[in-house]
Amino acid sequence: MIRPDFLPGTRIGVLTTQPLDRVLDYRAPESGCSVGDFVEVPLGPRKIIGVVWGDGEGTFDASKLRAAYRKLDVPPMRDEMRAFLERAAAYTLTPMEAMLRLATRVSGLGDPPGARKVYALAGGPPARLTDARARVLDAMDDFDGAAVGLSELANAAGVSHGVVKGLVQLGTLIEVEAPRDGPFPRLDPMLPGKELAADQAYAAKVLRHAAHDAKYGATLLKGVTGSGKTEVYLEAVAATLAKGRQALVLLPEIALTAEFLTRVEARFGARPAEWHSGVTQAERRRCWGQVAHGNAQLVVGARSALFLPFQDLGLIVVDEEHDSSYKQEDGAHYNARDMAVLRATLCSAQVVLASATPSLESWANAQSGKYARLDLTSRFGEAQMPSLAAIDMRTEDLVSGTWISPTLVGAVRQRIEKGEQSLLFLNRRGYAPLTLCRACGHQIECDECDARMVEHRFQKRLICHQCGASRSMPTECPNCHLEGKLAPVGPGVERLAEEVSHLFPEARTAILSSDLFGSARALKAQIQDIAGGGADIIIGTQIVAKGHNFPKLTLVGVIDADLGLHGSDLRASERTFQLMRQVAGRAGRVAEAKGEALLQSFQPEHPVLQAILTGEDEAFWEAEAAARQSAGMPPFGRLAGVVLTGPDQDVVMQIGQKLARNSGSIAQIGAQVFGPALAPIARIRGQFRVRLLVKAEKTAPLQVALARWVGQVKRPPNVRLTLDIDPQSFY
Ligand code: ADP
Ligand code: ZN
Repeated sequence: MIRPDFLPGTRIGVLTTQPLDRVLDYRAPESGCSVGDFVEVPLGPRKIIGVVWGDGEGTFDASKLRAAYRKLDVPPMRDEMRAFLERAAAYTLTPMEAMLRLATRVSGLGDPPGARKVYALAGGPPARLTDARARVLDAMDDFDGAAVGLSELANAAGVSHGVVKGLVQLGTLIEVEAPRDGPFPRLDPMLPGKELAADQAYAAKVLRHAAHDAKYGATLLKGVTGSGKTEVYLEAVAATLAKGRQALVLLPEIALTAEFLTRVEARFGARPAEWHSGVTQAERRRCWGQVAHGNAQLVVGARSALFLPFQDLGLIVVDEEHDSSYKQEDGAHYNARDMAVLRATLCSAQVVLASATPSLESWANAQSGKYARLDLTSRFGEAQMPSLAAIDMRTEDLVSGTWISPTLVGAVRQRIEKGEQSLLFLNRRGYAPLTLCRACGHQIECDECDARMVEHRFQKRLICHQCGASRSMPTECPNCHLEGKLAPVGPGVERLAEEVSHLFPEARTAILSSDLFGSARALKAQIQDIAGGGADIIIGTQIVAKGHNFPKLTLVGVIDADLGLHGSDLRASERTFQLMRQVAGRAGRVAEAKGEALLQSFQPEHPVLQAILTGEDEAFWEAEAAARQSAGMPPFGRLAGVVLTGPDQDVVMQIGQKLARNSGSIAQIGAQVFGPALAPIARIRGQFRVRLLVKAEKTAPLQVALARWVGQVKRPPNVRLTLDIDPQSFY
């Protein structure tokens, strides 16, 4: 038995998830404890969970210290993980308790293992299928065969426990004792992979070699869509597992996991552990525990999987590393891509950042030699890159209220005749982005936000895309009260679908838009159906841009290629470039049929569109990098956002002004403060938002100065201040 750091009764400092902004002092439990141990401690009348962080501050009167109840039976938090949380907190200026919350997002952490009751489908539906019962069956469907407990099932279905129990009595469901937290099946890294093309084989060899060294290293794996990046990084996974270390693959979207799991199973003979919001509580607990015991070899997950308690993490893959969903923008503001690199440096792991269209940050890091870089320049096998062309909308004949040009109509018609699929891309959910009264000019806006309500015709509602508020579609103008004067302005995917059904009444169409699917499972099913040829024309928002494989798809038509170019956002060009290339990359993924992408634009000569069309992406990144460098903007300079929110615009603005006036600590590091200014969407959910932006040189000690600065300005409790280091969005 190793002697614990702290003998029973001695003073310890415990980090908890309570928002207290400090480590709490206790006496060590009867068993004694060591740094990193998970303990259960009293806080007022409650029992909470924390991690032994060190000696304790010693300020609190020793005679009044309460003792920790017990040490939990889970592997202690490793030094490397504690260092990671501290460094990540310091970088993102997030309180430690919020970091610990990320690292312990699992219920029943301290509960003993053992059997528990789960529910499974047994017989057919009950004779009397009430609404509540139907919802339970739908929820079972959503869980997709995963073991689910009583509360979770009842919550998901929005019914009482009694309804679930009733279905057991009727024989529709059965209750089974399931062992809790069982191990995952072993993946076999020695199974042979696919035979690789020459450039794949070279990249795989380099990555395998790196994995073997068990040292930190970061590699940008840049390969055009369909070049076989996944097969390449699976080789890095194989080498990591063969060394007995753990691997983590981050994906930007849950809907992509299904295909990935299948590929892992084909490669390694079993499925990996999963960690994302679509996974049941029981499965999350199992995943967390098995990862902590070093038994889960490979985890595939969303950004928060980065905070799992790996014992020996040897590889982190960030797939589609440019994707903006890696940036978390509520609670702790962190970019999973950057935190992956940080974690890897602390645990001597390799990072692979994979993308066809890297972020400018990663591209620049590869240019400067900070990251290694591997390129896959052609599609795997016989498949060719799609050809790209613009449709000049200034010369196309369009009836008002329609958006598909005659040229694009002709191209779609050709595909239908050949039995191939077309994708029409428009990054706008709903029917129309604006509803206008033709009598008085009134535009319907959200009551709580400075944003227009968007008509969703399938749901017959107006929805605010900022706060989610909705109301039924009015028949009269809320301003002048005239009947029948409200008119949709501009297209959303639903309106585009209407146009498509007029143009191609015989064609089977499918709309892919995140709001049209009640569950991740429904979306997955739709995607599978489309991949199998279940639609002739797909109309989609940006969810179609992300990595899905539609073998029959040979034409991509972008309805409005100019849409992203007009923003004043720092990343407007970069984002448009990435999105257009990704969408175009959906076409012609198989050898038999070459793909084509047509971009409707009113300004096809725009440099960003030219870069997209010519495919000279290095030239694009060089130009973009030069522009950012001369402006001192990221990744060559640094930005931090300060967002103040509160119910009273004047009060919020005054605090912003006070901050601006007292920015000495910012000036000291040679940085500049811009603002305060009302945010572009000034009000969301009734809260006014005022922004300040700090711009500093790359090497300036930004965080320390920021913390000192915002700490000295008092604000009323109903005004919130949020710091966003390396902000991605400025709305
Ligand atoms: P990327 O991630 O670069 O877009 P993928 O890894 O998804 O590309 O590969 C594109 C397609 O080519 C997939 O269907 C994949 O199964 C196939 N593929 C890639 N590499 C190979 C290989 N070496 N042998 C057989 N098929 C491959
Ligand atoms: Zn709203």
